Amino acid sequence: MPGLLDTLLGQEPAVATLRRALAVDKVHHAYVFDGPDGVGKEMAAFGLAQALLCERRGTTVEGARGLFGPEPPTVFPTTEACGTCSACTRSLLRPGEKRPVHPDLVVLERGLYEASQIGRRTPETQDISVDQVRTLVLARAAFGPHEGRAKVFIIRRAEELGISAANALLKTLEEPGNRVHFLLLSSVPDRLLPTIRSRTQRLRFAPLPAATVALILEKEGKSKEDALRLSARSEGSLARARQLGDPAATATRDEFVARARDALRQNSILPALAIAEEGKKEKAELAVLLDALAIAFAEEGRSAALAGEGDAADRASVCFSRVLRATRELDRNASPQLTVEALFLELRG
Ligand SMILES: [Zn+2]
Repeated sequence: MPGLLDTLLGQEPAVATLRRALAVDKVHHAYVFDGPDGVGKEMAAFGLAQALLCERRGTTVEGARGLFGPEPPTVFPTTEACGTCSACTRSLLRPGEKRPVHPDLVVLERGLYEASQIGRRTPETQDISVDQVRTLVLARAAFGPHEGRAKVFIIRRAEELGISAANALLKTLEEPGNRVHFLLLSSVPDRLLPTIRSRTQRLRFAPLPAATVALILEKEGKSKEDALRLSARSEGSLARARQLGDPAATATRDEFVARARDALRQNSILPALAIAEEGKKEKAELAVLLDALAIAFAEEGRSAALAGEGDAADRASVCFSRVLRATRELDRNASPQLTVEALFLELRG
């Protein structure tokens, strides 16, 4: 079974950089993996963690005594996880789980832990709290690896680190313990505090080529036709393509479009602001919702034009371009929630 890093498609330059670092044992102690959502940043982070934790990487294991004498020894390369040792298996996420079981691989994410687990009274809704950093990082980073060959912290959506959380992390980022590594994931790295940015090494992940997205979808069981159709609308994000092809997500999209259109018809502004709450969703998910809304406006414009209702067709076309623009802003340095809020105020106006 290959290591996870070995199975990551479409991010060859980033993976090559990580392999070179592994080969010469110079893996940086703090990276920011930056790039759009759904292009493999998280998979690369888990792949690097797996390689750092693997018990066999870079070792030679004596061959067993076979029927015809001793078998040749197995030499494991220094650049890859073996994929099969206990550390390798426990570094992977099991289906449906958001945290691996290996004690030396710790995941931080807003809302990932119960309030009581991180010593809080209230749930973490706004940001990754200083409590999470204290409980998960400061209490552990000072000690070396628990059992493995390294200790790895993966921070999902690192731009959500609160100011005090980021400050609490700074000292550890500056002087981490021996063999301690931080992998910060972000689609909007410009929103990280400059002090964090200056202590980390940036590694870029590009949008995936549509052909790669289609290939992965086909491997996951989609028909060739569906894979091509979804990948064409994915903008290089596998997460987005998966959302588009998921029937449960289709129901969510229809519900969102109905709710959005209803909110725009109301006199009160409150339903529109309630929709802006959707901005707290994962960005790939939100982009898919906005896409569905744009398509609804496009269809409305087309039927209005066919019915000879020029004004209605124009209005729908303006709404269509506004939604498209908001979708593009999501990918840049914008707060998703503010983007959605501004969009709905504009659509009402
Ligand atoms: Zn291994």
